[in-house]
Amino acid sequence: MCISNSIKPKLKMKKTLIIFTAVVFCANGSFSKSINTGSDIIPAPVEFHICQYGFSLNANTKVIANINSSEYSVAEYLNGILCRFFKEDKPVIVKRDNPKYSLANSIIFILTSDKQLGREGYEIDMKKDKILISANDNPGFFYAVQSLMQYFSITPNGNNETKDEYKKYTQITKTACKIKDYPRFSYRGKHLDVCRHFFTVEEVKCYLDLMAYNKLNYFHWHLTDDQGWRIEIKKYPLLTQISSCREQTMIGHYRDYGKGEPLRFDGKRYCAYYTQEQIKEIVKYAAERYITVIPEIEMPGHACAALAAYPQFSCRRGGIKVEGTWGVFDDVFCCNDSTFSFIEGILEEVCDLFPGKYIHIGGDECPKTRWKECPVCQKTKQEQGCKDEHELQSYFVRTIEKFLNTKGKSIIGWEEILEGGVTGTATIMSWMGVNGGITAAKMGNDAIMTPENYLYFNWYQADPKTEPLAFGGLTPLDKVYNFNPAPDSLGAEVQRHIIGVQANTWTEYITDFKNLMYMDYPRTAALAEIAWSKNLDYTDFLERLQHTTPLYQTMYGGIFSKKK
Ligand SMILES: [Zn+2]
Repeated sequence: MCISNSIKPKLKMKKTLIIFTAVVFCANGSFSKSINTGSDIIPAPVEFHICQYGFSLNANTKVIANINSSEYSVAEYLNGILCRFFKEDKPVIVKRDNPKYSLANSIIFILTSDKQLGREGYEIDMKKDKILISANDNPGFFYAVQSLMQYFSITPNGNNETKDEYKKYTQITKTACKIKDYPRFSYRGKHLDVCRHFFTVEEVKCYLDLMAYNKLNYFHWHLTDDQGWRIEIKKYPLLTQISSCREQTMIGHYRDYGKGEPLRFDGKRYCAYYTQEQIKEIVKYAAERYITVIPEIEMPGHACAALAAYPQFSCRRGGIKVEGTWGVFDDVFCCNDSTFSFIEGILEEVCDLFPGKYIHIGGDECPKTRWKECPVCQKTKQEQGCKDEHELQSYFVRTIEKFLNTKGKSIIGWEEILEGGVTGTATIMSWMGVNGGITAAKMGNDAIMTPENYLYFNWYQADPKTEPLAFGGLTPLDKVYNFNPAPDSLGAEVQRHIIGVQANTWTEYITDFKNLMYMDYPRTAALAEIAWSKNLDYTDFLERLQHTTPLYQTMYGGIFSKKK
């Protein structure tokens, strides 16, 4: 039984929301796991101590920061949220050169210098009449605000219905606490496939809000695949005119069909893409939430949509359509210089749109059937001294990587790019299990763990008989939670190169946002906790989830219901 189904939204109309938790002294004693019970925060903070007294947030609570200091923008962000929550209009109060911070009923941002906190860590210290937030840098302040919001049952946004509910709030009182917190991994990612099914700008923004709420910091945006090309490239207009449309989509799952039974299709044209202006809007929105967007442009395989519009870059030079079925297809980019020029033209624009360090170049599931038959590919193979087609793929990836390096970018590729050898600077995404990532880390390459058997959220989360159609497999909440991306047994040198963890959601069978939310939550909360926290306790996590689930629901404007 999925947890999310059994929880009803808790935010009811009340004048004052008072949440009392077990009261323990705000001691300086050492942290113990059980003390996170009552923190109501996901991911679990490193240290959490509950105090003897309460703190009330209300319309008169002031936010104080130094306008000349970097944390001011986060203070403004918090101020905006509180204004919306209490339906008040109160500007951030600027206090410069005021070491005493003597104002009562205030939240005060203090720039600090604490090595242990790093860029993303923070401290929250609730006094009787004020809350002190300390961090070294903006991401730390931002994550402090996320913790504060969760603690006081506030969300950064809401739909019309919840805004009406907000009107009713005048005060939220909760037992005061002290928190010290910083992440385990620097890379905490969530992937979304928008090719098999598309999600609007507003839906992606909501997705990013939920990620930020869970302190995830990389959004892996799967923008191109066999079934659709979803990013406008001005140099190649056919990518949006032709590649963004499939004629129809297969109905049901392959396993529903008998042997030899013809596939059935819905007969509906499916077209969608993001304009460059929309991409910029999303990248900016993400950056304001300390999330880096990583675009994935798939090559050499999973390229049927692109090749339907530009068949001259395939081995067959034609006969390729934007796919309406799922799987792996033989037609891939032909390995030659004119293809590289085409891809580089695309990547020029991609690099300009995405300011982050990484570009994901795919590299997975590339059949070698066409390359083996293609005289052009065979010529390239001979010229480059490749002993087989795996090495030819390695040459393909190296060529593109070299180009991206000149643009100041680094590549991420799925683990298959290891097959014919890889440069020392490529980051490997391990999806078929953890072995690809461990192999890469042993070679000194950075690796990100995203094993399908733990972290594919398009897999079932409970008994398929009770669930909406999904890809297959089983990754229930406790399995996600129990995945350790970098166990001590690997040794420090290998652990150092496992930079983080990510969950992937492929959308063959996820047709709308409501269904996406159902598949991603609460599993994303479990992902966030293994990515951020070392204090793992599943029972305790489930208790905190009771608190955060209605908040997630408020944020996306619905309950996590199953697709009809
Ligand atoms: Zn070829």
